[in-house]
Parts: sequence; structure tokens; C-alpha cells
Amino acid sequence: MKNKYFDGTHLWQENDVNTIGLPRPFATPTRKDLAKKVPIPWQSEDRFESLNLLGLNLKNEDIVYEKNLCSYCGIKIKNNEITIRWISAPLALTSREGPKVFSDFHPLHLKCMEQARIFCPHMRKLQDSDFETGKFKKLKQNAVKDARQARELNGFIFTNQEIIQKDVQS
Ligand SMILES: [Zn+2]
Repeated sequence: MKNKYFDGTHLWQENDVNTIGLPRPFATPTRKDLAKKVPIPWQSEDRFESLNLLGLNLKNEDIVYEKNLCSYCGIKIKNNEITIRWISAPLALTSREGPKVFSDFHPLHLKCMEQARIFCPHMRKLQDSDFETGKFKKLKQNAVKDARQARELNGFIFTNQEIIQKDVQS
């Protein structure tokens, strides 16, 4: 039952931006592609009432890599912990503010990814082969490689836009 993910938790409020651990506070969206209750990851915010979507908590998103945090629950991951990571993220669409963000392919705790794959409408469609499991230290290295590639890809796009602008102006 999905209810097991909400035992002892509460409706997400603004001061939950700093609430860490499981279970997560939840939101109650009215979207057909979502459950009636959805957990709010630590690097996200409940913006269903105003924007009908899960908002990004940029302040938390920005420190996931630096502090080795699980973006789902906000707890620091130790080097030898077994974690899981999304390996087929669209790197060209990744930037600080989205649509895809760097924490999307950072390692998570196994339990946290289990919830993400149940409740996130995008993650739900993925296969087991879209993920890799292993010690945090190793998976973190792979995530950093992906992050570097995402930046390079975005750099190329930006450069092309600059070139196009120059062509238009001249
Ligand atoms: Zn976690």
C-alpha cells in the first residue's frame, strides 16, 4: 500500500524546506497523472496549488553535490553506502534551474529512489536498466562525469545561440 510512505508525516508547509529524512511531508495535487498524496522531496517544494506542479528548491538543489546529500531526503550519504542513480537522464536538458537538474542523476538512498520511482510520473516510466546501483563513492564519480558533460552540452548550445544572434545582428 502507498499509505506506508506517509505514516507519521504531514501536509507540506513552507517551513518543510529544511525537513530531512523519511517519511517525507506530502502534497495533495489534483492531477490525473499523480497520486492523491505525493511525497515532497527535500530539494523540491509543493507548488501544486499555485502552479500545479512540483517546484524546485534551488537553495537545496545547489548543495547536493558539494555536501554529498540525497536530494530526496536531504541526508548526507557515506562513501560506502549502497546507492542508486539514474544513468539515462537527458543531459542536454540539464541546467541549474531545469527542466532537468543536476540532482536528477546524483545517487540516492535505495529507499528514497524506490519512492521516487513510484510517485514521480517521469521516473515511473523508466526501466531498471535506466539505473545503476553501487557504492556512493563510485556512483558519485559517475554523476560528476555526467554533470560535466551536461555543462559542456549546454555550453555548445549557448555558443550556437550566440553565433545565431551574431548572424542576425550583422
Ligand atoms: Zn535519501
